[in-house]
Amino acid sequence: MTVAFLGLGAIGRPMAARVAARFPLTVWNRTGARASALAAEVGARAAATPREAVAGATIVITCLPTSAEVEALLDGPDGLLAGLGRGALLVDCTSGDPASSRRIAGRLDALGFGFIDAPVSGGTNGAESGTLTVMVGGDPDRCDRAVPVLEAFGSRIVRMGPVGSGHAMKAVNNALLAVNILAVGEGLAALVKAGVPARTALDVLNASSGRSFVSETLVPDRVLTGAFPKTFKLSLLQKDAGIAAGLLRDTAVPGPMIDLAFRLYGEARTALGDGADYLEAIRVIEAQAGAEIRG
Ligand code: NDP
Repeated sequence: MTVAFLGLGAIGRPMAARVAARFPLTVWNRTGARASALAAEVGARAAATPREAVAGATIVITCLPTSAEVEALLDGPDGLLAGLGRGALLVDCTSGDPASSRRIAGRLDALGFGFIDAPVSGGTNGAESGTLTVMVGGDPDRCDRAVPVLEAFGSRIVRMGPVGSGHAMKAVNNALLAVNILAVGEGLAALVKAGVPARTALDVLNASSGRSFVSETLVPDRVLTGAFPKTFKLSLLQKDAGIAAGLLRDTAVPGPMIDLAFRLYGEARTALGDGADYLEAIRVIEAQAGAEIRG
């Protein structure tokens, strides 16, 4: 099995590094220097174009910001479609949107290629340690073909259903994360202003029914410390909440909570800029409240 990996961002880079340890790998990245650096580090080959990257690959992985960038990579003389070999399978690890995935899958099917969506959860730490959860949507035989490669970075690989269902699952997961970050930030800011030390408030929360991954791990490690490391862009989490809001509309499910999280994350994006980390939405709450959640 020969693999191509396109998109070496915060999460794509460590995923690709793990693939290189198990399979012959060619990498491509829009900023070519990142591809050359990774290739030299892990013993992969760096390609100058998507076309060159996918030539001869049986499995092609994409990990880009949104489905729009994946679709844009398909066409043109240096595009992916110009280089794909017979029977190649495109595995999209982008947190994309279901409708785009179905459209891309339809185009690839008509040309004799395969497509599955396989977004991941577990963050950059999970990518480095190979413990990501991979949510796979698509034809079961195609999913089976991809499993050995997905196992390079994922410890839990779950078949969700048809093409697009992996992206739907991922969007809902991240929308719930966004709702929770905002709610935990609001609650803690109020407790701090009411005179409760943030650390004490979290200790009680985490022994009680309001606890969550946000309160147990993210806030203690990243907010109380004031560290706010940049691991996942706020703009990408807002994108995910928007995909989930669209899914709710498409399925005729009322979604005021997720709509509101999308809107508030949009406001945080405007306030903080595209480079902000997703947990920095709490900084906006802190600024509005006039209280910092530290301790
Ligand atoms: P980054 O912003 O760190 O990296 C984005 C990557 O896409 C870079 O390789 C960038 O290239 C490339 N890119 C951006 N625009 C284009 C374009 N127009 N054409 C071609 N390539 C482009 O994002 P992440 O790695 O964090 O995220 C990638 C995907 O994974 C997203 O869908 C995200 O939601 C998802 N994800 C991220 C997680 C995380 O913890 N970071 C966790 C789980 C999922 P360049 O180097 O040139 O900028």
